[in-house]
This record gives sequence, C-alpha cells and structure tokens, in this order.
Amino acid sequence: MRTSSALPGRTRRIAPFAAAAVLTLSACAAVSGDTRPGPSAAPAPGDPASGQDGRGGGGSAAAEEPGGSGPLAGMTVVVDPGHNGGNAEAPEAISEQVPAGPATKECDTVGAETDDGYPEHEFTWELSTLVAERLEADGAEVVLTREDNTGVGPCVDERAEIGNDAGADAAVSIHADGGPPSGRGFHVIAPGVLTGYTDDIAEPSRRLAADLRDAFEDGTGQPRADYIAEEGLDERTDLGGLNMSDVPKVFLEAGNMSNPTDAENLADPGWQADAADAIAAGVSRFLTG
Ligand SMILES: [Zn+2]
Repeated sequence: MRTSSALPGRTRRIAPFAAAAVLTLSACAAVSGDTRPGPSAAPAPGDPASGQDGRGGGGSAAAEEPGGSGPLAGMTVVVDPGHNGGNAEAPEAISEQVPAGPATKECDTVGAETDDGYPEHEFTWELSTLVAERLEADGAEVVLTREDNTGVGPCVDERAEIGNDAGADAAVSIHADGGPPSGRGFHVIAPGVLTGYTDDIAEPSRRLAADLRDAFEDGTGQPRADYIAEEGLDERTDLGGLNMSDVPKVFLEAGNMSNPTDAENLADPGWQADAADAIAAGVSRFLTG
C-alpha cells in the first residue's frame, strides 16, 4: 500500500491560529485533555515497493498496472484511519477551520476513548492497516490517509482530497463513536445530498454503506446501533470528509467506545481481525457488484 505522503505535491501548512466560531458536530465525541501520547507506531504492513507510480485520477488506467491480481485488481481503495495520535498535543493545529462543504469545520479532532484509555486513533490505525492488508491481498491498490499513528491530522478536507487525487473507486473512513454508555452497536454514515458537493456521490455512497453494513453485521456479531442512526445506516451533511469527497465514501463507526461491551470488542485483536475481514468483504461487494 502507499500512504498519502507518497502522493506528489501533498504538503499542507497548518496555521497556528484558527477562528472557532463554527458549530461542529463531530462523528465521534472529542475527548478533552491529554490522552496518552501514542507510542503505538505499529509499522504499516504491506509492500513498500508498491504504489510508487504516482498514478492519479481516473481508475481506468489501473488495468495496465503490473502485478495486481485478484478480484479487485485495477481498483483503488482509500482507507482513512480517523484522527491521529498527535492530535491531542496540537490543539491549535487541529482546531484550524478548513473547507468542509458549505461551511468550514475543525481540521480534525482528538477522537473518542474507552474507559480503559484505549484511544480511537489507535483503534482506527490498527484496524485500517488490517483492512489494507486484506484489500491488497485481493488485488486492490490501497491508499492510507496517514502513514503512522504519531502525527497530526491530516485535516478532514485533505483526507477527502487524498481519495479524489487517487481516483479511488471507494473510500472508507474508519472510526469508533463516543456515544452514551448505555448505547451499543455500529453504524455506517453516507453523505446526504448537498447540491454542488455530494449530489454526484450520494447514490453510490449509499450502496457502499449498505454493503458495508451488511458485511460488518455478518462478520463481527456487532449489532446495529441502538442509540443513533436507523438500521445501522445514517446520512449526514455536516462531515467535511464526506462533503469534500468526489468519490464514493462512507464513515464506519465500528462501535461505541463508551459502552463496556463494545469497548471490549473494539480492543480485542481477534475481533479486529474479524472486523477487517468484514470491512474488506463489504468493500469488495460494492466494487464487484
Ligand atoms: Zn472518530
């Protein structure tokens, strides 16, 4: 796989100051104060020699790529691990307002955390790398939006732009929610229709959401959320990562980190492996019809 840093021309300066006048509705409740500095710089698995061609835009050229074989050969998938391990130590940078659709939004947030102190950014990194391995094994070109779990950002608009630049056939942003402790379950968020932003991706994104919902439910035993969304599916128009996307994209909220049962699942390596299988299966179902 490659990470966003492998994309040409992708540098972004983070302004040290940001006006904070915009109401933000994070998909995941931000945790205030310091969290453990993320020491979990798990090396990204995969083949460092792959994906160096800098191909961008238009998935059709992928058929000419050497090497790829499997049901997803020639397809590009962006896997976006939500948040980042350095965000908590960079409050000014991540509160910068960035384009997020009709309005601006915070660059990024710290994310949720279990009662035991397992942070969302670590969960999303671990699960995303597992998902990337599986999709690559099926022949897909996989782009991760960050290269480790110790940095800051990227901002939500950049996360979307990485998918756009890659000409991704599908993009999945992986998160875990910070809901009410009594609430259990997972949900998948598709972009609602915003003319000029998501009207071109809403329909395929809804199909991606349904395929991912079905596969995740089958593969993990995790119930559909009982405190948010309906039948495990939601549509939102306030998420910059969706609004700024030009490729089919969804957010997976894999569980509620505030709920003890969900938290136990989310931190369990065996459950994570099942979840990765399920996510890859859902994406494959969408891509191969
Ligand atoms: Zn999140």
